Amino acid sequence: MRKLLAACVRNSGRAWFTRSTWFEPVLPTLYVTPLCNLRCTYCEDFGAHRNAGYRGQTLPLESVKRLISLIAAECDVLYVTGGEPTMRTDLPELLRHARWRGIRYLAMNTNAIRLREHQEILRLVDNLVISLDDLAAGRWDSTLAADPQRVAALLDDIRWAAAEQRRRRFTLTVTCVVTPGRVAAARRVRDFVYEIGAQFSAQHLSVNRLPSPELTADPEYAAFMRELLADKRAGRGVSGSEQYLARPGACATSACTPTAAPHIDWMGRLAYPCRELPDHVLVDLLAAGSLGEALREGARRWGPPPGDCRRCGERCYVEISSLVRHPTALAREAVHYLRSASR
Ligand code: SF4
Ligand code: SF4
Repeated sequence: MRKLLAACVRNSGRAWFTRSTWFEPVLPTLYVTPLCNLRCTYCEDFGAHRNAGYRGQTLPLESVKRLISLIAAECDVLYVTGGEPTMRTDLPELLRHARWRGIRYLAMNTNAIRLREHQEILRLVDNLVISLDDLAAGRWDSTLAADPQRVAALLDDIRWAAAEQRRRRFTLTVTCVVTPGRVAAARRVRDFVYEIGAQFSAQHLSVNRLPSPELTADPEYAAFMRELLADKRAGRGVSGSEQYLARPGACATSACTPTAAPHIDWMGRLAYPCRELPDHVLVDLLAAGSLGEALREGARRWGPPPGDCRRCGERCYVEISSLVRHPTALAREAVHYLRSASR
């Protein structure tokens, strides 16, 4: 991951020796579709009930391939998300294209409903992220608002994916949205995830892009995060930086670096400076011709990246910002990653 390493070194230099608010992209996120086949009650942007509103808003295969090529020209790491990525029947082709264009670390999240129909995905990704919020199918059904039988089958699908990790050479991360009053459910998910040999990721419930105040006031939640931090330090498969786990409820440990984690939506629009600021602008990446030029176009229209924003608690930005500004934390995470990759 030569490009990632080089960008991290340059970003660290900027953070330490300059007052620049410009940071090079290290972890771009591409939303390949806004469509989804579930209706999770906590989802603020997508869900099957919103699909009609996104009618006509999916790019053809060749355009998404071009987006991937533009991203890969500057980054060798990519996070693919949606909506639900498997709603695109051409998803394997997109992932193959990403590999061919030089993406060295490819992560993707899925709700796993269509995973067995798309088994080739497992050979194409390095990290497959599946959401699981509760082991109790009854509670989970109501959260996902999905067919109960299908939901019950998800547990089997997760077990199956975990068992495939070694053979198909990827890591399975199970991510659990922790909601107020349901820390015990998250603990049960964690124990299940450890048991099947996957990596566990806790994600706080967000309310208006901020960690739920009800959740962060819950001492059980703080205790749970301390347990995860201890597990991570002991070498267990826990996703999330030590800084995030050590400060549950904190928006950010340091000023945000949104350009390090650019988000490109299903129409190829880069959200500048980030998708969380209500007045962000959308820049057409295909028209801009490069990720760098799209960021510069965003700056021309919106202004330079914010210098000291800690407004939201969205992990995709907050985690990257902490690592960009704290090279020692970054090095620690690299060690954790290498340890888990060698298991
Ligand atoms: S599966 Fe993901 S995108 Fe779909 S509704 Fe649930 S949280 Fe939202
Ligand atoms: S803290 Fe949130 S709102 Fe502020 S720049 Fe970062 S991602 Fe955007």
